[in-house]
Amino acid sequence: TAKQQGKAGFVRYAEGMGEPVLAHMQLGSELRRALDNNEFRVVYQPIVRLGTGRLIGVEALVRWHHPARGVVSPAEFIPAAERTGLIVPLGRLVLRETCRQAAMWLADFGPDALREAGLNVSARQLHDPDFVADVADALAESGLPNERLVLEVTESAVLRGQQISRALFELDRMGIRLALDDFGTGESSLSLLRAFPAAIVKLDKSFVDGIEIDDGNPAAADARQAVARAVIQLARALSLDTVAEGIESPEQVAVLRELGYALGQGYHLAEPMSADGISRLLARQAITVRSVI
Ligand code: C2E
Ligand code: MG
Ligand code: MG
Ligand code: MG
Repeated sequence: TAKQQGKAGFVRYAEGMGEPVLAHMQLGSELRRALDNNEFRVVYQPIVRLGTGRLIGVEALVRWHHPARGVVSPAEFIPAAERTGLIVPLGRLVLRETCRQAAMWLADFGPDALREAGLNVSARQLHDPDFVADVADALAESGLPNERLVLEVTESAVLRGQQISRALFELDRMGIRLALDDFGTGESSLSLLRAFPAAIVKLDKSFVDGIEIDDGNPAAADARQAVARAVIQLARALSLDTVAEGIESPEQVAVLRELGYALGQGYHLAEPMSADGISRLLARQAITVRSVI
């Protein structure tokens, strides 16, 4: 293991953690400095209707523009931000920026151009006593209608012990839509979905990978598609929207559409981009719609 490979005085990797222990201690103070220095930016990945390619929503994803290391991916710093608690101010920044930006798109392009904007919420944020008030403030200040905000949570964030976080029920009552992210990867996905006020399930990329493989063996193809099929059936029974994540090819789009997935997200459809990039897509979409009418 990585632990055994480590030598005294060198960076050692803790079991089950994706990053070096020593680096993570530095990362804490680096993150604080980066927050003060305004080094975080939000990019947006389109969520599109698979039949038409039309933009339905966006997911906000944070990026760290490190002065020396360049753009750092959230996989590298979100875990440390959670451990240090810095995810709370960082998450608030993403929340406010996303609401502000989504309200601007709404004002510029009208109510039908973009249905909703989503962002990721970590466990630490969800259990922060001020979280619901932070969300309410961000919505009120931006003027974004509550039902246009989607908060994406993972199964592990939803549960605290055996309890579902109370904040989720409050957010649901406020009309905010909750999405269960990375769906299918957790241990109790199915029972959780029944108990939790979700509006959307996001089929994890791991169930999209390989879904299109055609090796001439229908039984093997059925097995690869089994989770995606089960999830869409469950979502229909519970009247939830579905989004298939991590779509990387047109063949995957075809299989997912056949299974009944209406919405998708992935590099094949569109990569995460700046707010300006989304504005350009919305402008182009408006022209297309007008020329069709
Ligand atoms: P996620 O919420 O599941 O977001 C989807 C991730 O998959 C994003 O990675 C996105 O860029 C990537 N992705 C989208 N389409 C494809 C594809 O076709 N192929 C592949 N290989 N990847 C694709 P990203 O931006 O690196 O974010 C990683 C994770 O970090 C997110 O997973 C989310 O859990 C977390 N994260 C990102 N931004 C935030 C944030 O503002 N707050 C919190 N708490 N977590 C965040
Ligand atoms: Mg997400
Ligand atoms: Mg996801
Ligand atoms: Mg994911």
